[in-house]
Amino acid sequence: METNNEQTNFQKCSRCEKIKSTDEFRMKSNKSLSKMCLTCLETKKRIRNRNDPVEITIEKWLRSSKKEDKMYNLYNEEKFVTKEYLKQLIEDCGVDCFYCMREVQYDCAQVDEAKLSKIDQDLGYNIDNITITCHSCNIKHFNPPQLRNMQYTKKH
Ligand SMILES: [Zn+2]
Ligand SMILES: [Zn+2]
Repeated sequence: METNNEQTNFQKCSRCEKIKSTDEFRMKSNKSLSKMCLTCLETKKRIRNRNDPVEITIEKWLRSSKKEDKMYNLYNEEKFVTKEYLKQLIEDCGVDCFYCMREVQYDCAQVDEAKLSKIDQDLGYNIDNITITCHSCNIKHFNPPQLRNMQYTKKH
């Protein structure tokens, strides 16, 4: 008799196509198993980390956004953007600048380099408050509350 237990003990890896024990797959947060075995996941990660400009950009965005949010006291650990969210965002709308629709790049520091921009400047780089823009639109829309306050106090 076939039980559920027996069925979940082995799984075929979608990359190397080997039948492996479920211990050799990664348990995701929703309790389902990864489609690729751990060996394949590692290999893929190593290749991607070294060569993929999108991966490098995401790491850079996460680092600088966190630093900036902390600097302006806007960091919200629960809402702060995640790597997975950024990957999805780039996949969904990472080709054109949100404001001027100019095509953005991920592999060089040029005018058209893709930037992570906030929609509401009074909030941090939180999920639902970020968008991808070109470098010049990023600068144009960058106006954190503290800078504004400083300008006001200077005037009055
Ligand atoms: Zn595999
Ligand atoms: Zn733009």
